[in-house]
Amino acid sequence: MGGELISLVYGRPVAVHIDPVEKKPLFHFIPGIDVFSIATAGCNLKCEFCQNWEISQAAPEDLTPYDMPPEVVVENALAHGCEAIAYTYTEPVVYFEYTRDCARLAREAGIKNILVTAGYINRGPLSELLEYVDAANVDLKSMSDTYYRNVCGGTLQPVLDTIIQMKESGTWIEITNLIVPMLNDDPDEIDSLARWVLEYTGCDTPLHFSRFFPMYRLTDLPPTPLDILQGARERASDIGLNYVYVGNAVTSEGTLTKCPECGEILVVRHGYMIMENNILNGNCRNCSAPIAGVWDGMEEQ
Ligand code: SF4
Repeated sequence: MGGELISLVYGRPVAVHIDPVEKKPLFHFIPGIDVFSIATAGCNLKCEFCQNWEISQAAPEDLTPYDMPPEVVVENALAHGCEAIAYTYTEPVVYFEYTRDCARLAREAGIKNILVTAGYINRGPLSELLEYVDAANVDLKSMSDTYYRNVCGGTLQPVLDTIIQMKESGTWIEITNLIVPMLNDDPDEIDSLARWVLEYTGCDTPLHFSRFFPMYRLTDLPPTPLDILQGARERASDIGLNYVYVGNAVTSEGTLTKCPECGEILVVRHGYMIMENNILNGNCRNCSAPIAGVWDGMEEQ
């Protein structure tokens, strides 16, 4: 307008919920806290499997938003006892100014900030955001640029750059890979993704393999078979990652956190609930090995 770019979604979220932090998913970031979670319309990718396509692929004028400027977001988070705010569901990169201003106010109020993102952003604006971000879950959808182009409408390299930049900045990161049957479930591709995570972020970065359900433009595919998810988890663990999980599915082992030193079961989850916690002050209760993550405020049980 008048030569100036104006965000149509600033202060106008279309999804507002309180979720457990495990739903982001973040398993190593203050387990059990409630997270005030917001999203506006829009995304800069067009994934054919998008679970939130009704808001991510909508134009702002097609939806009815809440009127929620940043100070009201923070007030609501405080009023509901949420220890963090998550910018999630769609893509915080497209509501960049809103994310940044909410996060800045939240930081001042002692509330943590979580980005749930596909990581498709340039270095400069990302570093502006990371000033206020405590943790992020980044979707790494595939190690194939062709997959990014054909299925998501993007490219791979910017996402890899984002993950590396986040890691270098000291932001706590966890990575999610949605396994879509017949599109990115090749074991060799899963191996190369796990190897990349190991090489560029280290063995302590949690990796979540997430189950696909037919959605949006991929309703002709079946849900991801559980044995493929379980196999991916085993392969990534064998490659050397310490914390590999299975999400969007009920499995006996897929959401357990185990001590990489002694094998003790540290955190037992049922769905998004914490059933048992054997991490004390960031260490294994059994062998005292440090467990990677942000554990402040996690109560002894
Ligand atoms: S990046 Fe996420 S929100 Fe955007 S289209 Fe893909 S799955 Fe949907």
